[in-house]
Amino acid sequence: MKIAFTIDFEDWYQGIDLPFSNWQNLEKRLHIGHYKLLELFQKANVKATYFLLGKTIEDHPKMISEIINEGHEIACHTYSHPFIYKLTPTEFRKELQKSKQLIQSFGINYSGFRAPYFSIDSRSLWAMDILKDEGFTFDSSIFPGDAKRTGIPGFNPRIQQLGNGLIEFPISTVKVFNFDFGMGGGYFRLLPYTFFKESLEKILKERHTIFYIHPWEFDIKQPKVPGINRRIRFTHYVNLYSTEKKIKQLLSDFECTTVSDILNN
Ligand SMILES: [Zn+2]
Repeated sequence: MKIAFTIDFEDWYQGIDLPFSNWQNLEKRLHIGHYKLLELFQKANVKATYFLLGKTIEDHPKMISEIINEGHEIACHTYSHPFIYKLTPTEFRKELQKSKQLIQSFGINYSGFRAPYFSIDSRSLWAMDILKDEGFTFDSSIFPGDAKRTGIPGFNPRIQQLGNGLIEFPISTVKVFNFDFGMGGGYFRLLPYTFFKESLEKILKERHTIFYIHPWEFDIKQPKVPGINRRIRFTHYVNLYSTEKKIKQLLSDFECTTVSDILNN
């Protein structure tokens, strides 16, 4: 059993729900985490799956080429990072089509998708049919548990084929007291590494798992925006200094690979 190592490839301001119209005024710092990740993957000889924002492809074509040239897998994370359950089906389709057009200019196509904020839940399951219709073969958006803003408590945590044929690889979660912790992101920074190591070892005894991280989690000096929700501010900025060391350890302790490598083998 292996860990699918995934990156939601976005800049610091794209993960905290700031209006799209403000993005152009905010400092671009994606390169900091981007080059750190490439270096960590090279040293560990690991290929990962990158869920790309269409807007990132537009702004940073050079970084996208670097990811592709390193042999990592490319997948879609929408164009503008919306909550899927706040979109109409038509708006969602446009997000996919715009992103697809952008990635096709690199001579490749997507087969996988992850929703921003894991926002495919019981309110937005209609999105699965649009993904299928737009040619996607796998999705990794469902958080089987309560993630506050999203999640489907009780959802089957294994890789599975949905009714329409799409393959779902749900986010790996673990229960601590009454909280569902996702394997990655803010949860990974908040808790000690040994907790994650033991949880992953336990899950890996019975199934493949998936891990996620963002480039901005390596960016210790990223700007702080006033006025954002306290809980979001906490999960965004907590223990940023610990990311690099923990990821290095994870890559050396476990066998990590792309989503497609797991699905196709
Ligand atoms: Zn995201």
